Amino acid sequence: MYETWNSLQEACLQCHKCGLCEGRHNVVFGIGVETAEVMFIGEGPGENEDLQGEPFVGRGGQLLDKMLAAVDLSREKNIYIANIVKCRPPQNRDPLPEEQEACIDWLRNQTALIRPKIIVCLGRIAAAKIIKPDIKITKEHGVFFEKNGVVMMATLHPAALLRNPSQKPGAFDDFLKLREKIHELCDHTYEEA
Ligand code: SF4
Repeated sequence: MYETWNSLQEACLQCHKCGLCEGRHNVVFGIGVETAEVMFIGEGPGENEDLQGEPFVGRGGQLLDKMLAAVDLSREKNIYIANIVKCRPPQNRDPLPEEQEACIDWLRNQTALIRPKIIVCLGRIAAAKIIKPDIKITKEHGVFFEKNGVVMMATLHPAALLRNPSQKPGAFDDFLKLREKIHELCDHTYEEA
């Protein structure tokens, strides 16, 4: 376990613990406020993220930023965003269980440093890894769970919303529920906004 962000990030950027290191341009460590009370977790970087070294920067990321802004959240201001795997899976395939397992300690260390009050999983893969393996994202998005003293919720992945725009209103409802939960549980997320 690394005690500081610098040492953690430095070690992570040199990681070769799984085969995803072979095709990467960048390790996509994470971005946002390191004292955030709310943390978003996706599954892994796509092409744009791999090239730019930042999570959720393609079309899906732009949609995510808009939905965040609608509930007064942003990566610059009051949240942190990271992924289960830090290197891009080829052709944007799902990260394999062994790749997730190899990488998850980086995320655990990030979470230990942030100590978020609320975790939002973006998409099925992240929700299955973080909340519960058998989660049914279509039915259980927007539902709050509690695990190890942290409140967690899954919502639909922005890339899925781009493929199925009819699901956007449901996902937006999740963000409204999240805003209420932040008001209930968090001390400074909106104060600093
Ligand atoms: S995906 Fe994770 S475990 Fe695999 S090489 Fe990248 S940082 Fe290391």
